[in-house]
Amino acid sequence: MGGSNLTAGSDVSLLGNAAALTACGRSLVFDSHMHVGDFPLFGVALDGDGLAATMSSAGIGKGVIFSPDNAYTLRVVESMPDVFGMVWVNPREPDYVEDAARYLDHPKFLGAKLHPLLDGYLPADPAIHPVMRLLLERGLPVLIHSGHPIFSLPWSIEELAVAFPDNKIIMGHMGHSNVVYINAAIDIASRRQNVYLETSGMPMHTKIREAVERAGPERVLYGSDAPFHHPEVEMLKVRLSGLSDELVGRVLRSNSEQLFGVPCG
Ligand SMILES: [Zn+2]
Repeated sequence: MGGSNLTAGSDVSLLGNAAALTACGRSLVFDSHMHVGDFPLFGVALDGDGLAATMSSAGIGKGVIFSPDNAYTLRVVESMPDVFGMVWVNPREPDYVEDAARYLDHPKFLGAKLHPLLDGYLPADPAIHPVMRLLLERGLPVLIHSGHPIFSLPWSIEELAVAFPDNKIIMGHMGHSNVVYINAAIDIASRRQNVYLETSGMPMHTKIREAVERAGPERVLYGSDAPFHHPEVEMLKVRLSGLSDELVGRVLRSNSEQLFGVPCG
């Protein structure tokens, strides 16, 4: 496992006063979207040491990680008190429901991650339904990659949100890089109370403010998508979005703490 490419020096002033106004009165950020592992296609990697360095450098106090290798995620979260996991669920793997249940028995696993694009299925595929029921029983959210045809378009995620209105569904990347998909993600979160938007990889800073204004102040979460995107670049988008300091603090930290059930401190 290689080291991180994300250990460059940081400017803590990037966090400014906004994040200090979170409920806990601390200036550290909660990152709702980080990957661990080697990614040769992208030329990046992030292991436990790299993750610790990245979080420290960027001012991230707590966060959530995942990997298709759930055993690796488990090892990392067990070695880092402020890092939590989401179980990667791939319905094309045997015993995926039983495996998900087993990982969710672990107190540091706080939900499930779905990547329908990489794993090749539609978000509303009935194969996912047992996992949604499991998450509902446990009161845990699911984070789903969004923004690419054919397997991760926002409207396909909305189908799942309609079928499971009591599950909390985080739309990762809030539509990603296309304004049509980004606007669709905001529309969907505005009309579906169980859909949350996560900001990583989405390039339009003003859309973060629009999402908060239209979907509600508790429904937008900061995520970095490290190591694919730099956490501080992703934070800057939130800070420059035009939101008030209080709302920036909610996006950068307290919304995720509430959704994942991670206490302050
Ligand atoms: Zn990601």
